[in-house]
Amino acid sequence: MGLDDDAREYHRQSPPGKIEISTTKPTNTQRDLSLAYSPGVAAPCLDIADDADEAYNYTAKGNLVGVVSNGSAVLGLGNIGAQASKPVMEGKGVLFKRFADIDVFDIELDRADPDEIIECVSAMEPTFGGVNLEDIKAPECFEIESRLREEMSIPVFHDDQHGTAIISGAALLNASEIVDKELEDLEIVFSGAGASAIATARFYVSLGAKRENITMCDSSGIISVDRSDEVNEFKREFAADREGGDLADAMEGADVFVGLSVADIVSQEMVQSMADDPIIFAMANPDPEITYEAAKDARDDTVIMATGRSDYPNQVNNVLGFPFIFRGALDVRATEINEAMKVAAAEALAELARQDVPDAVVKAYGDQPLQFGSEYIIPKPLDPRVLFEVAPAVAQAAMTSGAARKDIDVPDYEERLEA
Ligand code: NAP
Ligand code: MG
Repeated sequence: MGLDDDAREYHRQSPPGKIEISTTKPTNTQRDLSLAYSPGVAAPCLDIADDADEAYNYTAKGNLVGVVSNGSAVLGLGNIGAQASKPVMEGKGVLFKRFADIDVFDIELDRADPDEIIECVSAMEPTFGGVNLEDIKAPECFEIESRLREEMSIPVFHDDQHGTAIISGAALLNASEIVDKELEDLEIVFSGAGASAIATARFYVSLGAKRENITMCDSSGIISVDRSDEVNEFKREFAADREGGDLADAMEGADVFVGLSVADIVSQEMVQSMADDPIIFAMANPDPEITYEAAKDARDDTVIMATGRSDYPNQVNNVLGFPFIFRGALDVRATEINEAMKVAAAEALAELARQDVPDAVVKAYGDQPLQFGSEYIIPKPLDPRVLFEVAPAVAQAAMTSGAARKDIDVPDYEERLEA
């Protein structure tokens, strides 16, 4: 059987789907039930009515994330609708649980209008400690997230935007160190101007890149100021003060290529036209803008290559981010996931990649050598240390930046996570 049939069978096995609810308190006796439900339950209800923060002490809110989608940009499948997106959202729940022991309700909304989605999601604030928006198409995703962040006082995080930004941002920090270039000097070309590309470009600026050194291309080529009137406001944010042209024109002399577009649009000649020791993050899924082999073979100097694929070095995989970022945010009851917390996550990932890799992790990846360098610039997704490094860094940044509603002792917290 191929992967597709195996996946159908995996999902169909009884009970259908991948998640279920389980209870965390005794439910054996009549008395247990009268504590869990009426009449006993009234006491915690009234305490919460007096002080809403008590919800974190009496309910599952503080460990519960809503994974919300309308199914409008699912994986690479496009707008397949809310119902058809449910296996993906349940799967996201599996990853939250497996990597960070966070519980998820997956919420599939049969709505296209941003106003309606915003109304639905903001009305659910009492239920959740945080909201992970997922697979909502651009440009609507930008407005939906930014308005929800304003309206809600729990973290709202669109993973398709920020996950890629943070993890490839960690990769950029290390790649630029390896080739001995400063972020502020990097000429960066983006192929793609959708959800992930816009967010990633914004995040690279937060990390120290210069907006004026960024050239962004969409399916019509370079987004130059000449095209400002024809493109949406998010692309306009990156309209470059240069002549128009195609992706090949943009890549000439560039230090960094960031692909968040479609497969096979970068040639070896385009790689050869880049500056010394080029950094190439070709992240279109499932097939990158240029293959690992073609990019490496194009030149004799160092080519630092990352893709979205698990069968090549430097896989940019969102699972390195969202479970641990939410873990840290929930554990300080954060009101948001702000820029400082995202930067802290990227720096923690970058720092972790510079440390020696434990034998167990090396074994899990088939005994390939894992040592900081061009073929290992970010940690592996199954490295258990990612939890212990990223969650505390995010929690600390939340406290420092004023987003935390609860102070914790970070060394103590690290110990609890490792226990
Ligand atoms: P999106 O919002 O649909 O954006 C896609 C962008 O690609 C659009 O701006 C589109 O241009 C552009 N594009 C399409 N054909 C192009 C071409 N021939 N040349 C240049 N640009 C072209 O999608 P997204 O969510 O940002 O994802 C984009 C890609 O990145 C997908 O392949 C996705 O799988 C991948 N991705 C990977 C990761 C990872 O971790 N590895 C994470 C997120 C996304 P127009 O604006 O002109 O239509
Ligand atoms: Mg997604």
